[in-house]
Amino acid sequence: MSDGGVLAGGCLCGAVRYEVVEQPMGVVNCHCGQCRRFHGHFGAYITIPRETVAVSDSDGTLSWYRSSAKAQRGFCSRCGSSLFWNGDESDLLDVAAGSLDQPTGLATLRHIHVADKADYYTIDDGLERFPRGAPEPP
Ligand SMILES: [Zn+2]
Ligand SMILES: [Zn+2]
Repeated sequence: MSDGGVLAGGCLCGAVRYEVVEQPMGVVNCHCGQCRRFHGHFGAYITIPRETVAVSDSDGTLSWYRSSAKAQRGFCSRCGSSLFWNGDESDLLDVAAGSLDQPTGLATLRHIHVADKADYYTIDDGLERFPRGAPEPP
């Protein structure tokens, strides 16, 4: 943490860094097929207002992949870190929780899109599970 941010994080090579100045509710695990391919496993995200996230991309390696008609996914084109999910019609930004600097002080809240989860793991942590998206923004 630095510069007054609540949380900070970045990609594996360090070229892309960000600060989150609003405390997120917690972490939501998304098991949809797109998250699984993007992250190599399920996606773990915090969700915060986009305007409260300050991104530094000094080498210009932050790239965006349009993964659906309604969203783009941000990643570092140098090291391959999966960082962001940005919906076109939302003021919110999802940030990959695994890219946060430790300790985060956060806890996992729930699982979403579990109908699309992979078959090689089980969800047995007792948290709420939703077959598709959560009823409210995750
Ligand atoms: Zn990187
Ligand atoms: Zn997903």
